[in-house]
Amino acid sequence: MAILVLGGAGYIGSHTVDRLVEKGYDVAVVDNLVTGHRAAVNKKARFYEGDVRDKTFLSGVFDKEDIEGVIHFAAFSVVPESMEKPLKYFDNNTYGMISLLEVMHDHNVKKIVFSSTAATYGEPKQIPIKETDPQVPTNPYGESKLAMEKIMHWSDVAYGIKFVALRYFNVAGAKPDGSIGEDHHPETHLVPIILQVAAGERDQLTIFGDDYDTKDGTNVRDYVHVVDLADAHILALKYLQAGHDSDAFNLGSSTGFSNKEMLEAARDVTGKPIPAKMGPRRAGDPSTLIAASDKARKVLGWDPQFDDVHEIIKTAWNWKETHPKGYDDRKGNK
Ligand code: NAD
Ligand code: UDP
Repeated sequence: MAILVLGGAGYIGSHTVDRLVEKGYDVAVVDNLVTGHRAAVNKKARFYEGDVRDKTFLSGVFDKEDIEGVIHFAAFSVVPESMEKPLKYFDNNTYGMISLLEVMHDHNVKKIVFSSTAATYGEPKQIPIKETDPQVPTNPYGESKLAMEKIMHWSDVAYGIKFVALRYFNVAGAKPDGSIGEDHHPETHLVPIILQVAAGERDQLTIFGDDYDTKDGTNVRDYVHVVDLADAHILALKYLQAGHDSDAFNLGSSTGFSNKEMLEAARDVTGKPIPAKMGPRRAGDPSTLIAASDKARKVLGWDPQFDDVHEIIKTAWNWKETHPKGYDDRKGNK
C-alpha cells in the first residue's frame, strides 16, 4: 500500500518523501507547486499535480492509489504574509484540511500525520513549551494550523480518523549530500536568508528586533534538522500503524539560539563576514520558542542526529553552494 504525501514537492515534504523512498515505502505525492518544486520530488515517487482543495482531483488520486495513510504538508506558512492576508491562510490551510478529511473519509483512509507548528502556542507562558501548554496563536498562520488540529480531533471522534500532529519548531538544513534543500520565493526564514547574504545575493541581514526579553535582546528559537524532522514523520506513521490513539508531539532540539547567535554560527561555518543591521520587530513574532521534545523521544522513539546548529547550517550551506539558483525552475532564471 502507498503513503500519500500532500505538499511533497515542498522543503520539508521533499525530504520526507526522500526518506520514505530510502526506507522502501511506496510513495505518491500531491502538490500544486505553488511554492514547491517538481525537481525536489524523488523520482521513485508517483507525482500528481493538483490542489488539495479540489475534491474531484483529490478523489481521483485516492481512487487510483491504494492509500494506507497520508502525510499532510500542503499549506502556506509565512507568518508576516498571514498577518496581511489572513483569509488566504484559512482558505488554503484550514479549508484544505476539510477537503482532505472528506476525501479520506469517503475512501476509508484512517491515518494522517500532520505538519503543525510551534506557532499554535503563541507567546508561551513557560519555557520549554510542553504539548499540554495553552495554544493561543499570535498570528493567523498559527490560528489556521490550530484550527486544522481541532478539525482532525473532531474527525477522529466522528469517523475514527487517527492523527498525529507534529508541532515543528524552526526547521533548517538540507539533505547532507546537497541534492535537495530549501528554495522559497521570496525567502523569509532566517537561516536561508543569512546564507543568501553569505553568498552575496543580499547586501545584509536585518535582525527583526533587539529589545526582546532574551539573553541578547533578539528572538530565541529552537532549530531542528530537516532530515531528523522527516524521520519523525515515519515514526509517527509507524505509531499510527501500531494502532495507537491520536496525539500531538513537539519536534525541536530543546535548545534555544538567539538570532544573533545564529548569525555568529553562520559566520563560523561559511567563513564569510555576513553584514547585519538591527531593524524593528516583525509583527506576530513571539519572543522565545523552545520545545520540550522528550515526549517524541520517549513515545515515538525519535532520536535526532543533528544536535548542533553549526552542523545544521553546514548542510544548508552545502545546498546553497552547490545550487546557487536553487532548483532553477523559476521563470526568468533560465
Ligand atoms: P513549503 O512551502 O516548502 O511546502 C509546502 C508545499 O505544499 C509546497 O510544495 C506547495 O506547493 C504545496 N501546497 C501548498 N498549498 C497547496 C494546496 N492547496 N494544494 C496542493 N499543494 C499545496 O513549506 P515547508 O517549509 O516545507 O513547510 C511544510 C509544512 O510544514 C507547512 O504545512 C508548514 O506550515 C509546516 N511548518 C514549517 C516550518 C518551517 O520552519 N519550514 C515550521 C513549522 C511548520
Ligand atoms: N528573522 C530576522 N530576519 C530575517 C528573517 C527572520 O531577524 O530576515 C528572525 C525572525 O524575526 C525570528 C527568527 O528570525 O525571530 C526566525 O524566523 P523564521 O521566519 O525563520 O521562523 P519563525 O520563527 O517565524 O517560524
